[in-house]
Amino acid sequence: MLQVKNVTFGYSKTKVLKAIDFNVKAGEHLAIIGESGSGKSTLLKLIYGEYDLKEGQIFWKDEEILGPKYNLVVGYDFMKYVTQEFDLMPVTSVEENIGKHLSRFYPEEKQRRTDELIKVVELEAFAKTKVKFLSGGQKQRVAIARALAKEPEILLLDEPFSHIDNFQKQGLRRNVFNYLKSKNIACIVATHDRNDVLGFADQMIVLNEAEIIAKDTPQNLYKNPRRPLIASFFGEFNVIEPYGIVYANQIQIVEKSDLKATVITSYFNASFWLIQAQYKSEFLFIEHSKNLQADDEICLRITK
Ligand code: ADP
Ligand code: MG
Repeated sequence: MLQVKNVTFGYSKTKVLKAIDFNVKAGEHLAIIGESGSGKSTLLKLIYGEYDLKEGQIFWKDEEILGPKYNLVVGYDFMKYVTQEFDLMPVTSVEENIGKHLSRFYPEEKQRRTDELIKVVELEAFAKTKVKFLSGGQKQRVAIARALAKEPEILLLDEPFSHIDNFQKQGLRRNVFNYLKSKNIACIVATHDRNDVLGFADQMIVLNEAEIIAKDTPQNLYKNPRRPLIASFFGEFNVIEPYGIVYANQIQIVEKSDLKATVITSYFNASFWLIQAQYKSEFLFIEHSKNLQADDEICLRITK
């Protein structure tokens, strides 16, 4: 189990993280979400031991994670970290990059393991290609495969699919996260993409202004977001008194009701139209099956 105990940190006097406290069990998948600059990457770096903590402690099982002041070489064998920058060896091939840390005394095992991971990240066609010829998304996949090569007990991923195009993202995510589950590898994913979280994360932490403002399952936070910042992660929402936070899909357009609004515009959104409407002095967003015309009068029902 990873234990992050009351961790406080700042690069200068300003605190980037304050009294951060949480645990991650073996094989568990934790998502850290928050706006850009909220400290997600910093938290991963602290867990990896890249900096000395100002206050608090971090443990993996019984071992304390120590910063550079106490540890000559940053990093531990049981933990791998895929940074936002993924530093690879540009003039060597994809398979050499992935197998870099595997023992060359067992060439067959090394090849088997490398092939297995190339499949997980769907780079079969590029195994012999030099990394410098790859796109950003392909490099990102090599970095993920390399981090998995020696089967860590815990993997830290910083916006792991940010460079990968939408055509391939969903399949790749499923491959990687299912692979981690099948090997019981714990993982912490820093992200602002809800698709990295929904369907995969067991727990979710929301960082805001240096603090954890929520920690729960994605389902519970979706059902009871408590703050607009949390709701915004899940989709379009409105704040309507006396209902509170109401997602766009919790408003129906009905024949008759006391809640009347006027259509402003409709946005096509694949499986639905997002209707922007004027309600009293405010704008509302509503998910609807059809395109509506500006100035149409509509009646609304809220079900949440
Ligand atoms: P996130 O990953 O959520 O976008 P970061 O952890 O990268 O956020 O950054 C959190 C805050 O710390 C930001 O205000 C950022 O400018 C600052 N910061 C990040 N890295 C450094 C650094 N090496 N030196 C000084 N400040 C930094
Ligand atoms: Mg970051």
